Amino acid sequence: MKTRTMRRIRRDETPHTPWCARDHRCGINLHTSPDMYTDGPLGARGVLNRVQTETSDYAEIRIRIPISTREPIARKQLGIALRMIRELLHAVSAVRPGALDHDRDRPALDRRPAA
Ligand SMILES: [Zn+2]
Repeated sequence: MKTRTMRRIRRDETPHTPWCARDHRCGINLHTSPDMYTDGPLGARGVLNRVQTETSDYAEIRIRIPISTREPIARKQLGIALRMIRELLHAVSAVRPGALDHDRDRPALDRRPAA
């Protein structure tokens, strides 16, 4: 008796987004923006991509930070980098839709004092 062990994997194709690269960086159900760069001192560089999958949207970040060849300094630099990455994660996750809604009507602030 033969047993079939192959599992069939099916992925539904999702359309390109207005911001994705529409090239090799996109897949059947994953879309990636073009690279966005920022440069820092001593050859430091950060590269950010916006990514959308079937189930989530996220930012993918790669950072190259030159560090000292002196071990105590390198360890300190790595500690600072890790702490700053943690702060970045918290700062970005703190942005909620209401925080960006500057055009919302605020009747209490627009009210003029009675003459
Ligand atoms: Zn795409």
